[in-house]
Amino acid sequence: MKKITLILLACCCCLQLLSQPLKTKNVIIVTLDGLRWQEIFRGADSALINSTYTDDKAGAQKHFWATSANARRDMLFPFLWSTVVQNGQIYGNRDLGSKDEVANKSYLSYPGYNELLTGYPDPGIKSNNPLANPNVNLLEYINQQAGFAGKVAVFASWERFPDILNVKRSGLLVNAGFMDLNLPKNNDRIKYLNDLQHKAPHYLGDSTRLDFLTFEFAKEYLEQYQPKVLYLAFDETDEMAHGGFYKFYLDRAHQEDEYIQQLWEYVQSSPVYKDKTTLLITCDHGRGDGALANWRNHGFFIAPHSEQTWFAVMGPDTPASGEMKAGVTTHHDQLAQTISKLLGLDFKAAAGHDVGAPINGVTIMPWLGAAR
Ligand SMILES: [Zn+2]
Repeated sequence: MKKITLILLACCCCLQLLSQPLKTKNVIIVTLDGLRWQEIFRGADSALINSTYTDDKAGAQKHFWATSANARRDMLFPFLWSTVVQNGQIYGNRDLGSKDEVANKSYLSYPGYNELLTGYPDPGIKSNNPLANPNVNLLEYINQQAGFAGKVAVFASWERFPDILNVKRSGLLVNAGFMDLNLPKNNDRIKYLNDLQHKAPHYLGDSTRLDFLTFEFAKEYLEQYQPKVLYLAFDETDEMAHGGFYKFYLDRAHQEDEYIQQLWEYVQSSPVYKDKTTLLITCDHGRGDGALANWRNHGFFIAPHSEQTWFAVMGPDTPASGEMKAGVTTHHDQLAQTISKLLGLDFKAAAGHDVGAPINGVTIMPWLGAAR
């Protein structure tokens, strides 16, 4: 009798849990272009930090070297490996059997961002060429839903994002490259940032601004204009890797972890966002492995294993499972529908193209869809 009572009690608890509405009302997405899972989970790479790709070896070792992989990753990503791992989930540690990948076959940026934001690894999108994306994306869908109109904003370092998000069709607010931010009423800080970005050096060429400018625009917009969905796309990690500058690659990754911490600290200090906001952090592709030089590159033909990626998620509806271990392989075409479901929406039903199934474990609502 006691056993039956306990089982009934457990069932009641489960039903109660299942019937609870989702708490996520806002979403912040951050991408770090081409940042490898190897650094996320192992910290600085011993071969690269001692190679010709690191010119300031003493400096790199001082900031990022320890004998254990766990100590190294703590040094490189202190926010990810404290607040996020304690309160959320991190997918893609292949050393533990957790596999995360892009589903597209290009392993380049535009195909990766298209997959992430549309849920559809379109085989027709194979390059980074300017192309008005024919696929409806999650952000424009959200922007069309009741209560979300005008509450979605994108800040990106790379100028390609207006194409990736097809702003002509979607009408989304996308501030990218060296574009000025022109709001109906620019505050003084936005006016200052518009001016500042043109005075900052163009170290990454004319198509990509430095990530600190993207961050400052996004943070100001978040605090003053309070969007429900904010997407920040950083770029410098990929640029430093292509250039073969391993210490700078580590430096930029480390600073972006700090930017994300600043955003989260603001979120948790604001009554508008506190305990109502889910944070997703991920990338657009991995990088090659095997031969040492492969780290600089990515792409199906030139860099084996650059489909291997990672993501982290934290919010009021996500169980604090920490670092994920062996299980089903997750794909980035699943993240759009996962976010959509967290907001109580069904992007997949409205997209007009294939969309990956949501990832079960990200939410406590197991009926929302099967993992794949
Ligand atoms: Zn690249």
